[in-house]
Amino acid sequence: MFVYADNAATTAVSKTALDAMLPALGELYGNPSSLHQKGREANLALIAARETVAKCLNAQPREIYFTGCGTESDNWAITEGARLGAAAGKRHIISDTIEHHAVLHTLTKLEKEGFEVTYLPVHENGLVRLEELAAAIRPDTCLVTIMYANNEIGTLQPIREIGALCRERGILFHTDAVQAVGHVSVDVVRDNIDMLSLSGHKFHAPKGVGAMYCRKGIKLKNFIEGGAQERGLRGGTEAIPGILAMAAALKESCEHLEENAEKVTAMRDKLIEGLSRIPCSRCNGDPDHKVPGIVSFCFEGIEGESLLLRLDMAGICASSGSACTSGSLDPSHVLLALGMPHEIAHGSLRLSLCEYNTMEEVDYILEQVPQVVRELREMSPVWMHMLETMPDPYKN
Ligand SMILES: *Cc1c(COP(=O)(O)O)cnc(C)c1O
Repeated sequence: MFVYADNAATTAVSKTALDAMLPALGELYGNPSSLHQKGREANLALIAARETVAKCLNAQPREIYFTGCGTESDNWAITEGARLGAAAGKRHIISDTIEHHAVLHTLTKLEKEGFEVTYLPVHENGLVRLEELAAAIRPDTCLVTIMYANNEIGTLQPIREIGALCRERGILFHTDAVQAVGHVSVDVVRDNIDMLSLSGHKFHAPKGVGAMYCRKGIKLKNFIEGGAQERGLRGGTEAIPGILAMAAALKESCEHLEENAEKVTAMRDKLIEGLSRIPCSRCNGDPDHKVPGIVSFCFEGIEGESLLLRLDMAGICASSGSACTSGSLDPSHVLLALGMPHEIAHGSLRLSLCEYNTMEEVDYILEQVPQVVRELREMSPVWMHMLETMPDPYKN
C-alpha cells in the first residue's frame, strides 16, 4: 500500500487546480499588463482570481497581493511591518518560539538591523497565552507576528483574541496562516488580522504561488522593484497559471471546509487513538485547538529518522517535523520549545492528512507504525537502557 501522509509539507495538485491552470498554460498566455486582447483576457482572469481569494478570506480584492510563496509573504509582511514601525520610532516586535523559519529567520535579520524581538514562550500544548502577550507589549512595540496554525503540531492559536488585543493597542498584527487557510475558517475581519500569509501548495494548488493580505489603509512599500504589478509594490509579470490554480483550489477548499474537516478529523482521531496505545509515546499539541490534519507523536527510545526510513520502505510518506529542517539531525525547534527533552524530541513523527486520505490508509498506518517502533526499540541501546529502570511494556 502507498500512503501519502505528509500534507503539511505539500499537497497533491487537485483536478480543479489543474483544470484552472491548463488554459493559462495554453490559450491564456497574454501578459495582464498588455493593452491588447490577449493581455485584457489574462487581466480579466487575474482580476477574477483576486476576487476569489479575497472572498475566501472575507477581504477586499485590493487587499490581496499575489506572491511567489508563503515564505515570500512572510518576509514581505514582517519586513514592512517593521519598516512602518521604525518610521514611527518603534523598533520592538513580538513573536513566539514555534514559528516557521520563514518568520524566525526574517526576525533574525531584523534583529541584526537593530530591531528588538520578544519571543513569547509557548506552553506544553503549543499555545501562547494572551496575558503573556499583553505583558510583553511596550510603548515601542510596532508588530506582533504569531502563526495561525503550527505546521509541526497543528496547534491553532487564539488568533481572534490576539488580533483584538493588537487592534486595541494600535499594533500591527501579522499571522502566518499557511497551515490554516483552506483547512479551517479564516476571516480577516472576524479575526482582526492586519496582514496574513498564505501558500497555494498547502491546499492543492501547485508550488510557486502564494498571497499576502494587507488591510487597506496600511501604507505598504515596494517589496520587489520593477513594474506596476500588484499595485506597484511587487514587480514581475504575474504568474497567471499558478494564480488561477491557487484561486480555484482555495475556492474548492473553502466550499468544502466543513465536510473535509469532518472527514479528516475522524481519520486524525483514529490515528491518535491508535498511536497512543504504543507504550512510552506521547501526542504533541493541544487536543482541543488544532487543525484537522496534523498528528504529531514522540516515541521514546528511537530516532525519528530511522522510523521515517522504515515507514518509507513500507510505502508510508511521513515526516519527523518540518520538511524544511529534515536533513539536519537537530531535533525540531518546535518540540524543544514545548519543553520536550532532546532525546524524546528525537523520536518524533508527524503524519499530516488531507481529504484524499482514506480510513483504509489510516488502518494501514496503525498496522505499520506500532510494529516498526517496536522493532526499532529492540535494536536501540537507549531503549535497552530505559528497560533497566522500568518494566518492559511489551512483556505482560
Ligand atoms: C509551508 C509553510 C511556509 C512556507 O510556505 P512556502 O510556500 O513553502 O514558502 C510558511 N509557514 C508555514 C507555517 C508553512 O507550513
